[in-house]
Amino acid sequence: MSKDVFVFIEQRDNVLQKVGIELLGKARELADDLGQNVVAMLLGENIKDEAKVLISHGADRVIYVEDPMLKEYATEPYAKATYEIIKDNDPEIVIYGATSIGRDLAPRLAARIHTGLTADCTKLEIDPESKNLLMTRPAFGGNLMATILCEDFRPQMATVRPGVMQSLDNDASRKGEIVEKKVEFKPEDMNIKIREILKIESKKKDITEANILVSGGRGMGGPEGFQPLEKLAKVLGAEVSSSRAAVDAGWITKDHQVGQTGKTVRPEVYFAMGISGAIQHLAGMEESDLIIAVNKTEDAPIFGVADLGIVGDVNAIVPKLTDAIEKEKA
Ligand code: FAD
Repeated sequence: MSKDVFVFIEQRDNVLQKVGIELLGKARELADDLGQNVVAMLLGENIKDEAKVLISHGADRVIYVEDPMLKEYATEPYAKATYEIIKDNDPEIVIYGATSIGRDLAPRLAARIHTGLTADCTKLEIDPESKNLLMTRPAFGGNLMATILCEDFRPQMATVRPGVMQSLDNDASRKGEIVEKKVEFKPEDMNIKIREILKIESKKKDITEANILVSGGRGMGGPEGFQPLEKLAKVLGAEVSSSRAAVDAGWITKDHQVGQTGKTVRPEVYFAMGISGAIQHLAGMEESDLIIAVNKTEDAPIFGVADLGIVGDVNAIVPKLTDAIEKEKA
């Protein structure tokens, strides 16, 4: 009988990626609702030492596979090892990050195992009656949310975008089991040759990693409106992000976009400057710890989620705020 909630853990250069830790948090919730265990699947070369971290973040068991072929992600060896783990254990649920790795791996496994896959889920929960996994994701261009079930096949599989789920705090006292799975690789399992790995160096932090975000919308008036936001971000040690309207207008690049078709962020402080608060924007930021909004329209929907709202002109308020913080720091 199928049981347990499995999470595919991503690593790059033997560094565990945040998305896997976030998924363990959600898996813990689902497994507790089912009265089952959370199992982390960890693949790599010399990766065993990282297994303890997964237990302290919610896993009951870590199944790891070590092989030089798994040093860097490559579709075939990763699909083979993950497939063997799934075949051996018959999980109830398997979740993956909706990253370039998860988006490559999960559909191959779905085809190999002969089960379904729901991509880019924003919500996962257990139906209290049927105990099926309810997988919710935007559909029809984001105009409605669809809840998808996989009733007839197991495991039920989903991918979830980074930043959507919340990780559990690290609890070093948590106990769990670490098990090695031996997979016999043949040279033909590696059907590609990695000649070189080129890393794009970005001076900017990814907005999903920032503790403070200063976000600008159409109300900033143009690309020049983002310069005062850069200044404010600098004095706060923050990053600049934006609404889709600013991206579509070409004022800032897409990697800064917060929202349903952008990134999901959860900073300690989120400044919404000249952003109306459309539902698709809120979907990406409403879980922020503290939301501060500046908007000239008193009934802008952003004030509905803001902890602190200022009705006024961003052109006047942003420079004043920057000066005040600079003075405070001096
Ligand atoms: P507007 O809605 O035009 O709001 C501008 C605000 O600025 C207004 O409230 C106005 O009062 C205020 N303002 C104007 N001038 C000033 C001033 N001088 N001082 C102070 N305030 C001022 N949007 C996203 O952000 N992220 C997404 O991921 C996203 N995905 C989408 C997916 C789909 C399928 C669809 C249909 C839409 C999506 N959108 C997304 C678009 C979304 O619906 C809104 O159109 C967008 O968020 C609006 O951006 P905005 O708030 O910057 O602009």
